[in-house]
Amino acid sequence: MQLDLSTLTDIGRVRDENQDSVDACWVSDQHYAFLIVADGMGGYAGGARASQLAVGVIGDGLRQLPADPVFDTSVSDGDLCDALDRILQEANRRILAERASQPRLAQMGTTVVVAVIWGEIAVIGHVGDSRAYRWQRNRLEQLTSDHTLVQELVDHGALTPEQAAQHPRRNTLTRALGADARLEATYRSLLLQPGDSLLLCSDGLTTHLDSDALGVELARGLPAAESCRRLVAAANGAGGHDNTSVAIAVVHSLTAV
Ligand code: CA
Repeated sequence: MQLDLSTLTDIGRVRDENQDSVDACWVSDQHYAFLIVADGMGGYAGGARASQLAVGVIGDGLRQLPADPVFDTSVSDGDLCDALDRILQEANRRILAERASQPRLAQMGTTVVVAVIWGEIAVIGHVGDSRAYRWQRNRLEQLTSDHTLVQELVDHGALTPEQAAQHPRRNTLTRALGADARLEATYRSLLLQPGDSLLLCSDGLTTHLDSDALGVELARGLPAAESCRRLVAAANGAGGHDNTSVAIAVVHSLTAV
């Protein structure tokens, strides 16, 4: 398997703190990789702490995953979803525990979106409004549906996507990591093909760039690090009203496992 992985997080042009966190891992020639983007919330210090804690716990858990005896060559997408859910539940517990023990962090929580790549299989898990997209054969597909109040209204036909994008409560989340003891993340799996790119991002990117703009950038076929830089620069050029984070995996070749 040959991948080109890169991440970038940026404070933007308005905020005085970056509350996003990112991580990615691929060991050359292994058939395993992952990407993580988290966008924290909950007052000064709380948001940054929540996203850092989440990415730390999830990154540690995912780095240990290939050593788990369950993960032999017959691993299925269901196994990967189960494993990712165990790790997200642990991150949720850790944030809740820290919230309970530190009054200044009592409001903290975070979104998270994770892509786990195992050979041809990719599993996407998310909570909140950080998103995953796939670029495949000149088409951009949004792989996640935001856990937001406005997305629920769109799903019920009460708002159009265009109205949702302008809605005053468009940032109100219906789910977050660290919000509730019962965490309900959403998972999906897909089969990757050589030439695909996965893009994970915080809402600082999608507030400023619509899916057409994201597609135009990915269509350039640039190295992942260059695409990350260009996307963050485009968000900042459009105002940079929020922290912006991106994680990209370009799939050059795959190993069937
Ligand atoms: Ca944000």
